[in-house]
Amino acid sequence: MDTVSLSGKELAAAVNADTKLRAGALGDAPARLALVVANDDPASAWYVNSLRKAAERLGIVCETVDLGADADVAAIRAELTARSADTAIDAIMVQTPLPSGVTLEQVSPAIAAAKDVDGVSPLSLGLLAAGLPGFAPATAQAVVEVLTHHEIPLSGRHVAVVGRSNVVGKPLAQLLLAQNATVTVCHSRTVDLPAVTAAADVVVAAVGRIGLVTGEHVREGAVVVDVGTNESADGGIVGDVDADSVRGKASALTPVPGGIGPVTTALLMRHVIEAAENRRSV
Ligand code: NAP
Repeated sequence: MDTVSLSGKELAAAVNADTKLRAGALGDAPARLALVVANDDPASAWYVNSLRKAAERLGIVCETVDLGADADVAAIRAELTARSADTAIDAIMVQTPLPSGVTLEQVSPAIAAAKDVDGVSPLSLGLLAAGLPGFAPATAQAVVEVLTHHEIPLSGRHVAVVGRSNVVGKPLAQLLLAQNATVTVCHSRTVDLPAVTAAADVVVAAVGRIGLVTGEHVREGAVVVDVGTNESADGGIVGDVDADSVRGKASALTPVPGGIGPVTTALLMRHVIEAAENRRSV
């Protein structure tokens, strides 16, 4: 079977074109994103830089607030609380990894929901679960938008999500339920993962382990989404799916890079503009 590549580049370009127009419409009061960083991780620095460039290209002002790799929970929460109250700031993101001993769950409650453009706070996650307006985590939303863009039906289909993190797996399950999919969420304690995922029409890998999902995990004709962004031995980016063994069996597969990643960034920037528009209309 030919396996179609579900690129995210075309969709990301379309989202970005719309965002740029909307950013321009804000005139001399541009949207402002505060990016809070508390690490000295090179991969994080690369990602922060790419977010800054994406924002600049679209006409969004991005302020990086570097608290240093030794920042504690109180310092990070204080910064997020201050930025939440700062009327000059429309949107807030907190970059991971956080300092050793600090979890996203400890600091994210300090982000005001109206500015929480990556949907990480408990309030944002609760709004999503309740089907109420709010920002969904961009990566989870990117999975649904890539599938929709490529006209992969979700209503009534069985989707197996591998991974149950608060940033990808759990919110993705909620978004898929909202699309009327039947959802199975798998994790490290799932017994006989290949048997569970091979029963699904769509398999989403969001694990953080190179090549965890192989041809054995996928039934003939299934659609496979690879959320993974792992660093390979040669410094490149590889996914959670062993593409060689899945190709020829799956009907479609998202590439890494060029699949979920560019759409995630584009949706984050769209959320920044939405946050700015919402604040200006109140
Ligand atoms: P995470 O917080 O580390 O969660 C990983 C999940 O995978 C956990 O739920 C874990 O189960 C599960 N898992 C680990 N080993 C497993 C196994 N052998 N079998 C089944 N499940 C297993 O990771 P994350 O933040 O969700 O990220 C997942 C991946 O997505 C990473 O590669 C990350 O880099 C990537 N990512 C990409 C983007 C993007 O823009 N494309 C954005 C965010 C994340 P337990 O809960 O039982 O431990």
